[in-house]
Amino acid sequence: MKILLVEDETRAADYLRQGLVESGYTVELAFNGTDGLHAALTGDHDLVVLDIMLPGIDGYAVLSALRTAKQTPVLMLTARGQTDDKVRGFDLGADDYLVKPFEFPELLARVRALLRRGQPAPQETMLRLGDLEVDPVRHRATRQGQRIDLSAKEFALLTLLVQRTGEVLSRTQISSLVWDIHFDSDTNVVEVAIRRLRAKIDDPFEVKLIHTVRGVGYVLERRDAPS
Ligand code: CA
Repeated sequence: MKILLVEDETRAADYLRQGLVESGYTVELAFNGTDGLHAALTGDHDLVVLDIMLPGIDGYAVLSALRTAKQTPVLMLTARGQTDDKVRGFDLGADDYLVKPFEFPELLARVRALLRRGQPAPQETMLRLGDLEVDPVRHRATRQGQRIDLSAKEFALLTLLVQRTGEVLSRTQISSLVWDIHFDSDTNVVEVAIRRLRAKIDDPFEVKLIHTVRGVGYVLERRDAPS
């Protein structure tokens, strides 16, 4: 997560940067409005922490120019706490507002909240079967909430099986879809991969999801009665 901090008071800027870096963020600093605006427009930040009182163009002007081009979340900082300033900031498109002096943990909490808001909502693309969840976007698979480490091919194989839940896929189909192999003789690679995948997603759990259909292939499905 990359934060742009626009703050002309160097001591405050250093202090905030250090705290944010220690909290795991990458921080870019700008000490005036012109540099801050340029950085915000050209960079790829997840959040801008923007002081209002800046030399040259002030925080309001930076925000207003930024909003004509980008929707990067902006947390405004100001020594002034008047309602008018807040309203003006929000009208210009600020996402949150913090009045100086503030405690660092409060800044951190607001930063976290804004970054969470910026995250895409849990995608529709998440694939599920019972307690198995496969997220093709993040390349992540879990069962019962436990992260399962998979190689790229294992992940591709699992994604294929879960996308086609309940459908029996032949070894040839699987090898052509996952490995781009079109020869029946090479389907042993599928058996090996299925065995590895089972060891990870089925063996540690009571309910098995990958089933062998003798002479045909494999199917991923829930079978409530043991078979
Ligand atoms: Ca200032």
